[in-house]
Amino acid sequence: MTCRHIVAAAAGCETAFTVDASRVTFGRGSLDEVGDRARALGMRRVALFTDARLRVLPWFDEVSRSLDAAGLDVAVFDAVAIEPTDASFEAAALFARDAKADGYVSLGGGSVIDTCKAANLLASHPAPLRTYVNAPLGEARPVPGPLAPHIACPTTSGTGSEVTGIAIFDWLAHHAKTGIASPRLRPSEAVVDPRTTSTLPASVVAASGMDVLCHALESYTARPYLQRAAPNAATARPMSQGRNPWSDLGCREAMTLANTYLRRAVHDARDAEAREQIMWAATLAGIAFGNAGVHVPHAMAYAVAGRVRDFSPDGYPETPIVPHGMAVSVGAPAVFRAFGTFCADRHLEAAGLLGADIRGANADDAGDLLAARVIELARSIGIPNGLAGVGYAATDIADLVAGTMPQQRLLANAPCEVDAACLHELFERALTYW
Ligand SMILES: [Zn+2]
Repeated sequence: MTCRHIVAAAAGCETAFTVDASRVTFGRGSLDEVGDRARALGMRRVALFTDARLRVLPWFDEVSRSLDAAGLDVAVFDAVAIEPTDASFEAAALFARDAKADGYVSLGGGSVIDTCKAANLLASHPAPLRTYVNAPLGEARPVPGPLAPHIACPTTSGTGSEVTGIAIFDWLAHHAKTGIASPRLRPSEAVVDPRTTSTLPASVVAASGMDVLCHALESYTARPYLQRAAPNAATARPMSQGRNPWSDLGCREAMTLANTYLRRAVHDARDAEAREQIMWAATLAGIAFGNAGVHVPHAMAYAVAGRVRDFSPDGYPETPIVPHGMAVSVGAPAVFRAFGTFCADRHLEAAGLLGADIRGANADDAGDLLAARVIELARSIGIPNGLAGVGYAATDIADLVAGTMPQQRLLANAPCEVDAACLHELFERALTYW
């Protein structure tokens, strides 16, 4: 591989890490608590964000009833786009400003929660969206103050958006996925009710479950915080601060849970125990990556999802889409296989947590062992076979590399230095796995 070992930060390295822990309420029936919690946060007029599919499911009624019972006034926004864009973020912000809401509740997957974060930001601190968007595409200006309170209620066991300060969208003019990252965007509370996953199709549980696993694996193998450049000011320390002892805790548990329960959760919607445990793994992995940051598989995934042509999996809207979890999964084995040499102990340990026999294994085996376990799990739950499985060929690689290079926030969190040549090799090795 052409990836190189990490070059030490010229201005001196980090010596501390910061733990941003969200308030999380987890358990069956917890959606009933949303009204009381919203009132306790001082909300009187609530902007309730969801999407058209969820609006007709019982979970939406439960949250609405809970808000009504707490005496709160509610304005509903259900026009969230499945893969949000700058235009759909702006439309949501317009709604939020017109609704004159003093608080937000989001009920849905990552798209709903991210849209709610963006609407809250743009209504609380009006400015053109690009002001807050990550560099190099956006201006990456800091969010100037606190946002209105936001209770996030996830209904997919994947993105972890309910506990992170990140909102991802397609910037149409740039043909690229990018986002906003600020601790201010982190929802005030997460209410995680695993009953909501009982209505998810198997393909959605599979894709979002692989996203969970990759959040854990990437955070666990990310650049150590001690090898990242120290911030100019304490408050400028990024959320993607590199792996640290706090993020390690959630990652290890999430890997163990994914290995034990993900197959069951995908193959049997009535297996409430398995679906609940994957929801818990999603929460843990979300907390972990919200404090450490993911790296190259996610950077590659934004190009893979953003350049989709005609792939359209079961269980999703009938438009071309590579769901985020699938986009992450097709690049991940190639990355872990190649990066095993840069932090062998971590790759080996992760392989063991995913069920590999690592007795007698040495550092040279670490990447292969972990990649093999990820491939085996992905294959057993119907994830497409590499880039070719989602409609790409070798002739697309240069374009995919170009789409990945702007993801510097993620590339800089890898356990090695990553340039265009390195990405080219990774995409080549991700074409097919079996
Ligand atoms: Zn993800």
